[in-house]
Amino acid sequence: MCGIIGVSNHKEAAKIAYLGLYALQHRGEEAAGIASYDRKDIHIVKNTGLVADAFDERSLLELKGDVAIGHCRYSTTGSSNSKNIQPFFVTHRGKPIAIAHNGNLTNTEELYRKLEEEGSIFQTTMDSEIIVHLLAKTRNGDLQHCFLDVLAQLKGAFSLIFLMEDTIVGARDPQGFRPLCLGKLNESYILASESCALDLIHAQFIREIAPGEIIFIKGDKLKSVYLPGSENVKRAHCIFENIYFARPDSDIFDDNVYQVRKRLGEQLAKEHPVQGADFVMSIPDSGNYAALGYAKQLGIPLEVGIIRNHYIGRTFIQPTQVLRDLRVRVKLNPIRSIIKGKKIIVVEDSIVRGTTSRSRIEVLRQAGAKEIHMRISCPPIKSPCFYGIDFPSSKELIGFNKTVQEIADFIKVDSLAYLSLEGMLSVVKHPENFCTACFTGNYPVEIPKTQSKYVLEGKNC
Ligand code: 5GP
Ligand code: MG
Repeated sequence: MCGIIGVSNHKEAAKIAYLGLYALQHRGEEAAGIASYDRKDIHIVKNTGLVADAFDERSLLELKGDVAIGHCRYSTTGSSNSKNIQPFFVTHRGKPIAIAHNGNLTNTEELYRKLEEEGSIFQTTMDSEIIVHLLAKTRNGDLQHCFLDVLAQLKGAFSLIFLMEDTIVGARDPQGFRPLCLGKLNESYILASESCALDLIHAQFIREIAPGEIIFIKGDKLKSVYLPGSENVKRAHCIFENIYFARPDSDIFDDNVYQVRKRLGEQLAKEHPVQGADFVMSIPDSGNYAALGYAKQLGIPLEVGIIRNHYIGRTFIQPTQVLRDLRVRVKLNPIRSIIKGKKIIVVEDSIVRGTTSRSRIEVLRQAGAKEIHMRISCPPIKSPCFYGIDFPSSKELIGFNKTVQEIADFIKVDSLAYLSLEGMLSVVKHPENFCTACFTGNYPVEIPKTQSKYVLEGKNC
């Protein structure tokens, strides 16, 4: 997972990219970077940490030029070493190419092998570097042919933004796994992972980049070409963007994330109501919207039973063993007088490994909850993701290893129920256009052979 932004034709392009990255921070907290071009030189600033920490006044001043691209990183492919921070940048035949990538390619190994045999030397362990090498090799033709040629060789998930001198190029894989949208700010065009980044900089949302589209932005001019045959490729938008990943104030995949989450909660209530509960609450923040829908559907009050501390940065020092139990409280504190003696419905967006859910339920028990009925606004996650979400091997996914009852016992709730696959798909506008591989193991794009060991079969809880 990552957040990407591109800004064209703006005299403070890097500052706009910086602000946009703020809105995309949830897509990657590990590192951030911006590359800009001033028609002579490329400038680049990259650092580990949050957007607020990765840049300062001085570094933003260095980022001169009227085009810029930015990236915030959540490492999936490639380790977290600093060379792997994007935008990744090279100079080829005197011309700069910088790239910001969201998604995971699935044919990385074949492409690596081919390029290494042909003499390429790699600087990083990121799959995104491969794209730059492919571009460097085909830079003889015009830009459009060059991109059509290179992107047709990629398989898997990619929403991409490139800076090629004064041109910004955006592209999306034919399945449209990850979101990418286009906005306009006066004479500038903006590309961004999510529309919430456009809102922050007062840009007007124009449209989503189509799956298979490659868009070239030079000055205030746009031109699009499409990967041949991409209009017939079955779409595979990541349903987990709607469930958890994207920001609720974003419009992605032709829908608003908040509204989808609320509908997921409503559907969850239809499928798994709880009789006689005192109130519904969420595990903040990701469960808030489904909890709202759940409570509305059943006509039960919604309470905010846990208060979240928003000031825990990545620098938070983990307490010693003795104080370990207090760690959860740093982030979340239950309101005892609300919870004590009550029969509670706790709505959560998803369970991955089950460990955080377990500790949060414990906090509610300590606050005196009488009964806790947990409801999850997606089906059990059973299969790893190879398209950019950090879901590990089946072995680490509690939904693969345990039955729903066993999970309920593990996290110590009185009852546990998940939204059905059909129920989940019934609330999105175009259910056939979504990837549900993490729930079903049906992978829309062939997964790498060496990775298939992470997908275990046979357990069906
Ligand atoms: P678990 O109980 O599986 O340890 O954690 C579940 C929590 O993790 C839920 O609150 C859910 O919102 C959150 N979550 C789901 N997917 C992701 C992810 O990809 N990254 C992070 N950091 N949290 C996630
Ligand atoms: Mg959460």
